Amino acid sequence: MTKKTSLRIGILEGDDIGHEVVPASVRIAKAAAAATGMSIEWVDVPIGRRALDTLGHTMPEGTLETLGALDGFILGPIGHREYPKVPEAINPHPILRKRFDLFANVRPTRSFPGIGCLHDDVDMVIVRENNEGFQPDRNVVMGSGEFRPTHDVTISVRVITVEGSSKVARAAFEIARSRRKKLTLVHKNTVYKLGCGMFVDSCYEVAKDFPDVEVNEVIVDTMAMRLVRDPQSFDTIVTTNMFGDILTDEAAGLVGGLGMAPGLCIGRGSIAMAQATHGSAPDIAGKGIANPFAMIESTRMLFDWMGHHHKIDAALGMSRLMKAGIDAALADPATRTPDIRGTGTQADMVNGILRGMEAAHMPA
Ligand code: ATP
Repeated sequence: MTKKTSLRIGILEGDDIGHEVVPASVRIAKAAAAATGMSIEWVDVPIGRRALDTLGHTMPEGTLETLGALDGFILGPIGHREYPKVPEAINPHPILRKRFDLFANVRPTRSFPGIGCLHDDVDMVIVRENNEGFQPDRNVVMGSGEFRPTHDVTISVRVITVEGSSKVARAAFEIARSRRKKLTLVHKNTVYKLGCGMFVDSCYEVAKDFPDVEVNEVIVDTMAMRLVRDPQSFDTIVTTNMFGDILTDEAAGLVGGLGMAPGLCIGRGSIAMAQATHGSAPDIAGKGIANPFAMIESTRMLFDWMGHHHKIDAALGMSRLMKAGIDAALADPATRTPDIRGTGTQADMVNGILRGMEAAHMPA
């Protein structure tokens, strides 16, 4: 196989603040690419409400084929709850994750000084299973994993498989191995003896290939409490879909809120998707105050992953440069948005990151 020297990356803005934070992320990535000599072809891919209004569908025909020919993509938040109730207005998230087998949602949580974190020295990664579990849009091929046999009874189905659990476990062990070699399995097998039991058993089976990683277990309700009290005790965490959904928002709350919660969806293939944890935040869209960190950091994670996966030094250089810029902007209230004790706007933060990158790139 010839070594990859350039990347094709999709830009999917999504909805509401997606039209702000995605272009901001691309601007920063382009500056980093120019500085490190990384060759990138950027491909605009319409999705979401704008695609519905202009092309008649929130995920127009040919989108999956276009994305399949790329190395990765940046997906902005999707505000599907506000979509009109028509068949053309679908939520693209689950389809994208399934189609590209993006079974692991990697969500880091890190505290920065001065931004209003509840704790200092938090540095952990929650790896959330992405394609099965309780979420009714992911656990069946047709129909929904929820149904109502009578007017006053609803039944929700949760799907746990050995394959899905093993895949996310392996991704989490690999991440743990590259960090402090500590992995916490979060579940509730005391009650969900079969479902969580299968998840835990699958994790231990995978653990045999990672004897250097220390494994422990925490029951999910205890984990919710311990994240508040001693989040520094954790390094890498792996859990099922819905537990991960809830715990990652809780973790975001520890370090300044949803604007500080990035994510990268990965699988076994070579496509990865940068996707922040937050939603489309219509309440602050267009005001120039949405915190772009989560989307920019998700984009940085995408290039870091590409750099390791394809062994491209320039992509790793982009990641290092972007980190230096982000750290510089977060250190100064004037280049932070109001949600993280800043006095600046989103544009101030983006400019602060660009200046920080320039300073880091200057020869000493
Ligand atoms: P979803 O279910 O789609 O994830 P949600 O219901 O969790 O969405 P969000 O859109 O994420 O809702 O917004 C929740 C709150 O967090 C809102 O008050 C919003 O303004 C705030 N928020 C979300 N993202 C950001 C951001 N990037 N910067 C600042 N505030 C944000």
